[in-house]
Amino acid sequence: MEVKQFQAESKRLLDMMIHSIYSQREIFLRELISNASDAIDKIYYKALTDDSLTFDKGNYYIKVEFNKENRTLKIIDSGIGMTKDELENNLGVIAKSGSLAFKNETDVKDGHEIIGQFGVGFYSAFMVADVVTVISKALGSDTAYKWESEGADGYTITPCEKEAVGTEITLKIKENTEDENYDEFLEEYRLKSIIKKYSDFIRYPIKMDVIERKQKDGSESEYEDVKEEQIINSMVPIWRKNKKELTDEDYNNFYAEKRYGFDQPIKHIHISVDGAVRYNAILFIPEKIPFDYYSQEYEKGLELYSNGVLIMNKCADLLPDYFSFVKGMVDSEDLSLNISREMLQQDRQLKLIAKNISKKIKSELQSLLKEDRQKYEEFYNSFGRQLKFGVYNDFGTNKELLQDLLLFYSSKEKKLVSLEEYVSRMPEDQKYIYYATGDSIERIDKLPQTEVVADKGYEILYFTDDIDEFAIKMLMTYKEKEFKSVSSGDLGIEDENQNEQTADDNENKELFDLMKTILAEKVKEVRISKRLKSHPVCLTTDGEITLEMEKVLKAMPNNQNIKAEKVLEINVNHEVFNALKSAFEHDKEKLTLYTNLLYNQALLIEGLPINDPVEFTNDICKIMV
Ligand code: ADP
Ligand code: MG
Repeated sequence: MEVKQFQAESKRLLDMMIHSIYSQREIFLRELISNASDAIDKIYYKALTDDSLTFDKGNYYIKVEFNKENRTLKIIDSGIGMTKDELENNLGVIAKSGSLAFKNETDVKDGHEIIGQFGVGFYSAFMVADVVTVISKALGSDTAYKWESEGADGYTITPCEKEAVGTEITLKIKENTEDENYDEFLEEYRLKSIIKKYSDFIRYPIKMDVIERKQKDGSESEYEDVKEEQIINSMVPIWRKNKKELTDEDYNNFYAEKRYGFDQPIKHIHISVDGAVRYNAILFIPEKIPFDYYSQEYEKGLELYSNGVLIMNKCADLLPDYFSFVKGMVDSEDLSLNISREMLQQDRQLKLIAKNISKKIKSELQSLLKEDRQKYEEFYNSFGRQLKFGVYNDFGTNKELLQDLLLFYSSKEKKLVSLEEYVSRMPEDQKYIYYATGDSIERIDKLPQTEVVADKGYEILYFTDDIDEFAIKMLMTYKEKEFKSVSSGDLGIEDENQNEQTADDNENKELFDLMKTILAEKVKEVRISKRLKSHPVCLTTDGEITLEMEKVLKAMPNNQNIKAEKVLEINVNHEVFNALKSAFEHDKEKLTLYTNLLYNQALLIEGLPINDPVEFTNDICKIMV
């Protein structure tokens, strides 16, 4: 008999399963039952379109059988079964092939991490079994096949006998070891509780023979043990249950069973609406970013059920892009079972549901922000960027919905703050909401442009994300306060030395004009700085486009070479200014050298590339020698 090998990736995963230190071994049963339920679903769907097939719900079930003496546990289903090829292809590879390759070697050394990231499905059987035997007969096929494996060494497939269509999986449960107890998976009580815990809402009956102590017929005092087949699961889907009866654990189990994610959700939202449109929904805010979240591959959407029957896996129309991280399902009696995708988009009911859901998500996030700041910040660190994209993409039409969910780092608080918190703290003489942009908090802290605003005692929001400034431009105002970059031309700060400086401006006009000529198109103007205290120069901008925006736009594909109107600001109280003045009077060549140097320095401070690094270093050498 030929022993076939698993694919390399699968083999690695299997090895990990077998030797894993994963503490939650019991989930193997959830995985096998969920596969069985999927297999019955497949017959159901086939029957919808195939007239020769009828689906009589009473005929479909999952059965769990255990035998202590033989140490076997069986999971039997009346589902669609597998052909020889399907046994080969479906059980020999990992469901989400490629995802393992995505992770690097160090990440996968811990089984926890892997199960946590991708789930493992069928292979989890090897956490508790030495030998796994799958006997299956596919719908419409005459022959049954037996797939058998003792783990990473490979598997065999042979023809065999099986009467009914469906699949029977037999696990040869491992022997107990010094530290590990496997006997528990052969105990009636334990198996019952695992099924209840993870698979209670499976739509088909999960049967098991249980021993009940019963009164003997015709006797009042004598009892006997009677074996009887019971249905263990309640079969009522969790979303139809009363919220009051459900615990956090129930929701988390649902999240795991549904494969919405492999983390623990930060929050669940259970909605039951019985009004103009009737629906139930269970939504989750995940904790961790799915590895493909900020990529093209990521597909948003909620599962859509019509009266308990799944009609679409990922209904994108139910979620706006800015809430694309939300996972979960919607069940409505008002949707037709056979509605097509195109029709669904036009469906009035669906639109109402979608609108409802968005509002609900928003209000739940807002209450999370108020009631559990730490959790909200965890959420925001993962998905805040998406909210900002939301503000930007819809040209501020979602302003009302999203603006109160945004957080930015504050110069004063040294942590994330909301716009509402910022505005509520503003001193009366402060006109604008100030912000500074840069690659990191540390860099912004050192920006010369922040000096005067900070000196005034005003709070500054730090924008470290590409999208921040663009999103804010779309908001335009918050509570009627405009946003102002600390490097914009007019800071709106009253200046005590106004007159004195205008005089200075005139006095130095010739010098500044000459500097501007030296810098040619690079700057729009050279002027005295009202914002610098300790630094000699900085760059600011006039007009709408700021330096940070120029940087971001430049990095975009097919950029249109949009430039900020740069202004070189000079601190006339700095010693460097004296050097400029004296060069202006005595040595014009030196002035050219100094001007170029200062301009390049200002670029570097902003994190902008300098035009000609070689020339810049040559210039520095010139003043050294
Ligand atoms: P997933 O369920 O995520 O696809 P699994 O590892 O749990 O991954 O299962 C792999 C595949 O094996 C399933 O997609 C299905 O095609 C097949 N399979 C597993 N168990 C059964 C079963 N009881 N009946 C029919 N097919 C099954
Ligand atoms: Mg599965």
